[in-house]
Amino acid sequence: MHTDTTSAGAARHFDIAIVGAGPAGLCLAQALKPLGRSVVLVEQHPASSLENPAFDGREIALTQHSVRLLTDLGVWQHLPSADVSPLRDARVLNGPNPFAMTISHRDAPPVRGQAPSELGFLVGNHHIRRAVHSAVFDGPGAPTLLAGQAVERVHTTPDHAHLTLTNGQTVTAELLVAADSRHSPTRRALGIAADHHDFGRSMLVCAMTHDEPHHHAAWEWFDLGQTLALLPMNPCPATGMHRSSVVLTLPGSEMDAVLALGEAAFNAEMQRRFANRLGAMSQASTRHVYPLVAVYPRRLVAHRLACVGDAACGMHPVTAHGFNLGLRSVEALSAGLSQAAQRGLGLADPSVLARYERTHWLASRPTYLATQWVTQLYTQEAGPARLLRDVALRLGQGFAPFRRAVAASLTGA
Ligand SMILES: Cc1cc2nc3c(=O)[nH]c(=O)nc-3n(C[C@H](O)[C@H](O)[C@H](O)COP(=O)(O)OP(=O)(O)OC[C@H]3O[C@@H](n4cnc5c(N)ncnc54)[C@H](O)[C@@H]3O)c2cc1C
Repeated sequence: MHTDTTSAGAARHFDIAIVGAGPAGLCLAQALKPLGRSVVLVEQHPASSLENPAFDGREIALTQHSVRLLTDLGVWQHLPSADVSPLRDARVLNGPNPFAMTISHRDAPPVRGQAPSELGFLVGNHHIRRAVHSAVFDGPGAPTLLAGQAVERVHTTPDHAHLTLTNGQTVTAELLVAADSRHSPTRRALGIAADHHDFGRSMLVCAMTHDEPHHHAAWEWFDLGQTLALLPMNPCPATGMHRSSVVLTLPGSEMDAVLALGEAAFNAEMQRRFANRLGAMSQASTRHVYPLVAVYPRRLVAHRLACVGDAACGMHPVTAHGFNLGLRSVEALSAGLSQAAQRGLGLADPSVLARYERTHWLASRPTYLATQWVTQLYTQEAGPARLLRDVALRLGQGFAPFRRAVAASLTGA
């Protein structure tokens, strides 16, 4: 691996500088390899935590389209099958009502001419990060990695983007890519405003084993005073028990009390919150809490800058589109840069960046707005809203074109 620990001195020049070696930044570095340009990845966390990422509770639902992209990038091949769990169906529940709208893989459009046997796949975020890291650094053409150093200052001049890292090292690049999370300091430093929506809630995620089988169906349960989700995982390797990633969304203050519970009390609490529908439940991993904030920037590009991943669209996780859209941004930007090379245009040519912005805005903005709308409808607790939700679920179940449209969105068709 090209891990560079050079400290302050003359500026080093690269064709492309990517800030952030999260899954989106790493996937972009991999997608850019065929261009044969010099690429640097700058990441504030140390190289060891990129090579062996810690479990962070997130099970990422990947669409069929994302799996194809990851396969084309040579990343999917680095994921052991034991780490990949099929997602066959998705069920949406409302309050105490036992009715569930079910979107089945049978509603999904064909994939490469064949009816898919699943809507998508669930993979731990740390497994994805490890697999992308291996693909990027184990093969030829690896980018330079400047790890353990945050970008402290950034500015652009007509010819270059300039970065100053925390150790004083300076880097210049023809094109700068912000892949540094939904709160992207790079995007902000270069003057792009963003709309933030704070849902005032936090999301707790952890793996749990349970008595009842999940049949590889995901649940999204908009209950009174809480939202629950269940993401089907492969059986627990140690005990063979049914296992899922469970997600509990609550106002921040209520979350503190759940987080403080000892393991036995937490198990009983989750069994109660899931109304015993899964039988006895047992915590099978550490617990992780994420504040729910969605962010959409006003622009996705600026002079010599493109934003990708969460920096281009920070989704609410409820519709499981965040990283899938991140991969779309990687696909659109790398394709745009490859076309630019064929047409003899510079990497930061304004027409190239404008085209990327248009493509990714069209891919991400409708999904972002639809997710905001669903989240707002399904977290209002007044009687009319609950009734409207019930009606919407029953109409949705009975209306095949709607089910097919949702299935198409879940497969990324
Ligand atoms: C609970 C939960 C469940 C989710 N479920 C799904 C799902 O089912 N499906 C799905 O598609 N998505 C899901 N997501 C979203 C998904 O996790 C994100 O979209 C994805 O991780 C974003 O990747 P990224 O690389 O864009 O950003 P990040 O993972 O945030 O990485 C950004 C990187 O930039 C680095 N960085 C930041 N600032 C600097 C700086 N100044 N200098 C250097 N480095 C910097 C950070 O250290 C980090 O490594 C979920 C998210 C959550 C919270």
